[in-house]
Amino acid sequence: MVFSLSLVTVTIAALLASVSGQQLRLKVSGPAQVSDIADLTVTTTLINTGADKVTLIKEPSSALSSSPAHSFNLFHDSGSTPEFTGILYKYSLEKAAKNPETLVTLAPGASIEVSHSLAGTYNFTRSGSGSYNISPSTLFYIVNAEGTAEQVHAVLQNTHAVSFTPGSRLAVSPPAAARSIEQRGLSKRATYSSCSSTRQTQIAAAIPAAVSYVSESLSYLNAHTTTSTRVVTWFGTWSSSKRTTLVTQYTSLQATGSYTDWTYDCACTDGDSNTYAYVYPSQYGTINLCDAFWSAPTTGTDSKAGTLIHESTHFTKTAGTSDHAYGQTAAKALAISNPSHAVLNADSHEYFSENNPSLA
Ligand SMILES: [Zn+2]
Repeated sequence: MVFSLSLVTVTIAALLASVSGQQLRLKVSGPAQVSDIADLTVTTTLINTGADKVTLIKEPSSALSSSPAHSFNLFHDSGSTPEFTGILYKYSLEKAAKNPETLVTLAPGASIEVSHSLAGTYNFTRSGSGSYNISPSTLFYIVNAEGTAEQVHAVLQNTHAVSFTPGSRLAVSPPAAARSIEQRGLSKRATYSSCSSTRQTQIAAAIPAAVSYVSESLSYLNAHTTTSTRVVTWFGTWSSSKRTTLVTQYTSLQATGSYTDWTYDCACTDGDSNTYAYVYPSQYGTINLCDAFWSAPTTGTDSKAGTLIHESTHFTKTAGTSDHAYGQTAAKALAISNPSHAVLNADSHEYFSENNPSLA
C-alpha cells in the first residue's frame, strides 16, 4: 500500500514537471479567401490556460515572432507545399533566456496575438491557386525554474483554411539581398555591405578560419570510415550512408570561392542581441551578420567562423539544413532523439566543425 502510494506521488510529480506545454493553447485565424498574396496575413493567438504564469522566448521561428521564418506548415489540397523563401537564423536560446527584451510572460488566462504576413516568406507559385490548410508551429521555448530555455509544445486548437481565387498573385519579388549577389558578378574576394572597417577586419579573420574548419572536417570524415565519437556525438548513430551524406555536404561547402568571395551584409535590421546571423537559403553566398556575431570569438564554440559554417549549410545549393535544435546541449540531444534531423541541423554541423571540446 505504501509502495503504490509513492508510485502515485512520482506520477503526479512527473505530470507537474511537463505541465508547461499542456497549459498553452494555440489558435490561428485569417482571411478565408484572397486574390493577392499581399493580403495573406494570419494571426496566431497563444493562450495560457494553466494556473501558473509562463515565461516564453520570442524565438524567430515561433508563432510569437513576426519574423519571416519557417513558422507554418502549409498544405495545398493536392498535398503539395509552397516554397519557403524566408529566413533561417543562428539564434542563441541561452542568451535569449537571460534577455528581458526577448521574453514575454503570460499570466494565467492571458493571451498574446501576433500577425504574420506570409508574403515573401512563402511562394505559392509551385503549388498554385486553390485551397490551403495553414497550421502554425506548436513549438515554443519557455524559461524554466533553472532560468534556462526548455522546449514545449502548445496544444493546437485549430488550423486555418484559405483559398486563392483563380488568377491570384501567388508570390512577391525576392528581397533586395537577391540583387546584391547578382551585382557581385565575377569578383574574386569578399564583398562587404554596410560593414564598418572594424567589422570588415573581423569578418576577414573569420573567413580563413571557416575555410579551415571545412577542410579539417572533410579530412576527418575521409580518414574515419568507421564509427567515431565525434560523428556520433553530433549526428547520432554511425552508418556508412550517414558518412557519405556528410562528405557530400562538406564537399559542397568546399566549392571554389566558398566564404572567400561571398557577400557579407552587416545591416541586419531583423536581428536582436540573441541573433548571430541569417540567410535566405536560396541566396547562395550572401550572409547577413547580426549583433551576437560581433562579440563572438573568431574560433571555438559559437564563434564567428562557426557561425559562417552554420549559415553556409543553410543554402539550398549546399546542405539545405534547417534549425531543428539550437545550442550544444539541444544539438547533442537531437543526435540521440532524431539523428535524421541532426544531419540536417545547422548547429550540429557548426559544432562538429568547431570540435570544441575536441573529440576523437
Ligand atoms: Zn540557422
